[in-house]
Amino acid sequence: MNLNTVTEIKRPGSGEEIPEWRDGYAWLAGGTWLFSTPQIATHTLVDLEALRWPALEISRDGLDIAATCTIAELERLRAPPEWTAAPLFRICSHALLMSFKIYNAATVGGNICMSLPAGAMISLVTALEGILTLWPRDGQPRRLPVIDFVTGNHANVLHPGELLRSIHLPANALTKRFAFRRSSLTHLGRSAALLIGTQSAEVGDLILTITAATVRPVQLRFEVIPSAAELRHAIDAAVDETLWFDDVHGSAPYKRHLAYYYAEQIREELAAK
Ligand SMILES: Cc1cc2nc3c(=O)[nH]c(=O)nc-3n(C[C@H](O)[C@H](O)[C@H](O)COP(=O)(O)OP(=O)(O)OC[C@H]3O[C@@H](n4cnc5c(N)ncnc54)[C@H](O)[C@@H]3O)c2cc1C
Repeated sequence: MNLNTVTEIKRPGSGEEIPEWRDGYAWLAGGTWLFSTPQIATHTLVDLEALRWPALEISRDGLDIAATCTIAELERLRAPPEWTAAPLFRICSHALLMSFKIYNAATVGGNICMSLPAGAMISLVTALEGILTLWPRDGQPRRLPVIDFVTGNHANVLHPGELLRSIHLPANALTKRFAFRRSSLTHLGRSAALLIGTQSAEVGDLILTITAATVRPVQLRFEVIPSAAELRHAIDAAVDETLWFDDVHGSAPYKRHLAYYYAEQIREELAAK
């Protein structure tokens, strides 16, 4: 839709050219959400595309994803064969409500900064133990585990004008086994629950990430695969009643049921490997 309150679009060519932040400014990434609804409080968009950050950089340490990398680019990544968790890029890229246009324009960073409970890129980079690099307006870049970024439905720790620059996925997370479960009322629709379990082959541990069913991601870490009862107890201890997400895609008790159900399936799948 046309944003008729917007009177200016700035296109900085480098980090130094990023203008002083004012009320009424907004970062523009793929624009798929920004242009989907009126932005009454916004008069200036600062377009991140012109910064031309390399979308994806593979190294021995893992994968660095620019905030401006599109979901389509991430899905198409040809990952090293030892990255056993790399199929999650494709699986999570198809775990959101999107048209062809959104798929090709929406960015990984935009999806994370939207901080929707069903943010599929949040599910992905949380499960893969991602570390975010944030550029505050008045200080040095800061690094933050993704699990600490989203604080609620459409809420996160970004300060006004702070920019998400990139996401680092460590190699040791990318070389883990994984199990994935998701529920949505419609094919390619918004997730009602999206759970990912990962496990180091040598250690036999379990990291379980619960998203979409909860207002923010919840991550449970076990040194060894827990029993079914231990797993259920850990979910109850980590997710209080206010954290289950109640919306048109399912009530809070339904989401809790899905989380128990899929968590147990993931536990069994990874225990059998
Ligand atoms: C109708 C609709 C339904 C959707 N349903 C789902 C869904 O079910 N699951 C899902 O995962 N996604 C969903 N989305 C989100 C969509 O898939 C995109 O991921 C999302 O719109 C953001 O991507 P974008 O790059 O277009 O961001 P933009 O629209 O450009 O920006 C989104 C917001 O993030 C801010 N922002 C963007 N990049 C940065 C950055 N680097 N640093 C700081 N702030 C930044 C912008 O200022 C803006 O506030 C939905 C979107 C729409 C419009």
